[in-house]
Amino acid sequence: MTHPEQEQRLSLADIETLARDVLLASGVSLAHADAIARNVTAAEADACRSHGVYRLLGYVRAVASGKADGEAVPVVTQTSPAIVKVDAGRGFAPLANELARPALVAAAQSLGIAVLAINNCYHNSAMWVDLEPLAEVGLVSIGLTAGQRSVAPHGGSKPVFGTNPFAFGWPRPDGEPFVFDFATSAVARGEIELHQRAGKSIPLGWAVDAEGRPTTDPALGLAGAMLPFGGHKGTALALMVELLAGPMIGDLTSQESFAEDEGRGSPPLGGELIIAFDPVRFLGDDAAEHMARAETLFSSISQQDGVRLPGDRRLAARAQSAREGVLVPKRLFDELQAIRARG
Ligand code: NDP
Repeated sequence: MTHPEQEQRLSLADIETLARDVLLASGVSLAHADAIARNVTAAEADACRSHGVYRLLGYVRAVASGKADGEAVPVVTQTSPAIVKVDAGRGFAPLANELARPALVAAAQSLGIAVLAINNCYHNSAMWVDLEPLAEVGLVSIGLTAGQRSVAPHGGSKPVFGTNPFAFGWPRPDGEPFVFDFATSAVARGEIELHQRAGKSIPLGWAVDAEGRPTTDPALGLAGAMLPFGGHKGTALALMVELLAGPMIGDLTSQESFAEDEGRGSPPLGGELIIAFDPVRFLGDDAAEHMARAETLFSSISQQDGVRLPGDRRLAARAQSAREGVLVPKRLFDELQAIRARG
């Protein structure tokens, strides 16, 4: 048996090919397989392991259960000049994002602000990947999606919310954009699953067991409830994400998504909302001056000893991964190879 800690080094090109092959072998269309492969490769490159190739198991499971449509063709419509909508047809979010992005960018650049509402999708990926391309073309953005119902409200012990990520992107005149992205739970659910697979305990504060008692056992935490970050403040943000990525765009709350899944354990079916702002349209000729003031703010944070900007770890990892490739747990690699071989 493979030791849980053993790892396999792969280049980013190998990761992308592995991901595409695994998905194609599992009945996913080439368009979805390509978009998801780019997405998980970006996550691996930036050392966001819980959303790297590990996620492929979730995509494969979602298709095998008959819940997700791995061949769905997203349909993009514009319901008002500022509102771009995508019906993802129970397919996956990366392709819906890629196909709708040009319309969102054009609408934001024309109007100053625009939204993308993706419906009926399985969002199983890191959200910064959805926002970074917007920042690369000069747009500021906010992204939200409800996650798998597993998080109790502050003070409670019954899951109500998803892990509900909230992300923000800001273009920078020189260098990589500033993008932060966090689950409104104490950690992403995948992080607890990875601890479980590695036979490691989890820190107190991440989850409670089914009786509401604090636990360091990942299995008990997954069976009980995860906790929001920041107590009542995280709870309020998690609720905001539910409302904006759910009822506001006519899509499911995490509770509704859980019921819809009928216990299959698929990634959550639901919506994603992205709001994009164009600083040039807001500020006209003064845009460069105001964006430079933002740089002063960034510097006064990163110049402090021991302080870094959110996203800096990812960017450092990206440079290293491009040189050295990435390490994938051997057991996971073997599982993925076995799925690939089936195709
Ligand atoms: P983390 O808590 O690891 O990180 C959250 C943010 O804080 C990141 O931008 C990170 O930057 C930054 N950060 C972390 N530590 C520091 C530090 N010491 N100083 C400054 N900044 C810091 O992320 P989460 O575990 O909450 O979420 C992980 C991922 O899970 C996200 O990408 C999210 O989109 C995804 N997710 C997706 C879901 C879905 O349904 N699709 C559901 C839930 C989560 P850096 O990355 O550089 O460390």
